[in-house]
Amino acid sequence: MDFLPVFMNVRGQPVLVVGGGEVAARKTALLQEAGAKVGVVAPELCQNLLSEAEEHRINWRRGHFTPSDLDGRMLVVAATDDQDVNREVSQLCRKNGIPVNVVDNPELCSFVMPSIIDRSPVQIAVSTGGASPVLARLLRTRLEAAIPSTYGRLAAMVERYRNEVKARFKDVTARRVFWEGILQGRIAELVFSGKDDEAERALQKAIAEGEERNEGEVYLVGGGPGDPDLLTFRALRLMQQADAVVYDRLVSEDVLNLCRRDAERIYVGKERDNHAVPQHQINQLLVDLAKQGKRVCRLKGGDPFVFGRGGEEIETLMANGVTFQVVPGITAALGTAAYAGMPLTHRDHSQAVVFVTGHLKDGTMNLNWKSLAAPNQTVVFYMGLKGLPVICEQLQAHGLPQDTPVALVQQATTPRQRVFTGTLGTINDDIAGREIQPPTLIVVGHVVKLHEKLNWFRSEEQIRRGEH
Ligand code: SAH
Repeated sequence: MDFLPVFMNVRGQPVLVVGGGEVAARKTALLQEAGAKVGVVAPELCQNLLSEAEEHRINWRRGHFTPSDLDGRMLVVAATDDQDVNREVSQLCRKNGIPVNVVDNPELCSFVMPSIIDRSPVQIAVSTGGASPVLARLLRTRLEAAIPSTYGRLAAMVERYRNEVKARFKDVTARRVFWEGILQGRIAELVFSGKDDEAERALQKAIAEGEERNEGEVYLVGGGPGDPDLLTFRALRLMQQADAVVYDRLVSEDVLNLCRRDAERIYVGKERDNHAVPQHQINQLLVDLAKQGKRVCRLKGGDPFVFGRGGEEIETLMANGVTFQVVPGITAALGTAAYAGMPLTHRDHSQAVVFVTGHLKDGTMNLNWKSLAAPNQTVVFYMGLKGLPVICEQLQAHGLPQDTPVALVQQATTPRQRVFTGTLGTINDDIAGREIQPPTLIVVGHVVKLHEKLNWFRSEEQIRRGEH
């Protein structure tokens, strides 16, 4: 180990920043956040530091560094662009036993500043010992993504009950097991989803009962349209913590593979005319799994509340008193728009966008065709491949011109994405005989024409076929 990581209490302590530029300003802000009394010595200050000085939040001595500036300081940061000054500050500090950091110059430092993930009271510091601040920053970004921003609130709650739990469990191991149950289970999730009061009540109950009986819960997670990069941080975290995953046909293999490896996987896929598992059975399955004490991830394609029947699922959960949370996902229309270069609205072409189901029931679709055929809007049909002839016919019958652009997008955002374009009058013939792989989305409106110009993404399939 090249450095000893420590967290220093500088609250109310006099510290010194040598230099008045932007870098000095950043270090000053950090020291202020930790509550230090910051003095700055510099002939001139940048705008930020100047206003700090004017409002008496820092103590500025105008002039060049002199050794007496170090008197009484607990810690010093040198941030001038004059290496001779920096070296002098460093040498004097070391001689006087004052910790010193010289920005971007590890050799002159007695301590280095880490990259910080601040979830106070939780703090995570990442350091490369000065080898590569950029690498430390990149690592920090990854950790930021993995650690919910509400971790601080969880830690603060735990801190409030620390003594009580200590008194309740004399045995260290029992205490550790208790806290592990709290911090990885339902109570932590309650805090992360903003239900702090409920979390606190559950914690009190667990302390009183001497254990946190994991009651099980359900995460209704939007897995997005296919590209795993489009998952939210929260979706990924819950996927990796769930004991069981209940998933659909729409969930891509790549997304599914990000679930915890040893989680039980239950497929409840539905095919268009072949409902593998009826909805009410899925609803009940979720309740049953949760009642067994499992953390269940109900993973759905796109967003759970856009043609996802998520509403029905949580209704059953609610009726059965099962704790749950809903995590939005990128719905197919948004994934398609982005990856096919087709903005859904556009100043010149479309002032509204409608998501509608194109599912055929007894060979027809009971839709408000008149409103769907309104000009200057984009209509996105989900589940519409089979009904495409009806869609084209009805939209024309209700007033949309025959040459209105239409796109059929297959498996948007995945390596198998393909885009077929035409018009209401031609699209059915255009795609005749093509092997189209569901799921597909149909986009109707003038924005489809933008695809030719704005298309930036080509899937492996499109590259292989030489298509755009
Ligand atoms: N909840 C999902 C939609 C479920 S309905 C969401 O928000 O996206 C199923 C329909 O979604 C499919 O018939 C298809 O029309 C559309 N769909 C889902 N994923 C798709 C994808 N990657 N590319 C094209 N269409 C998709």
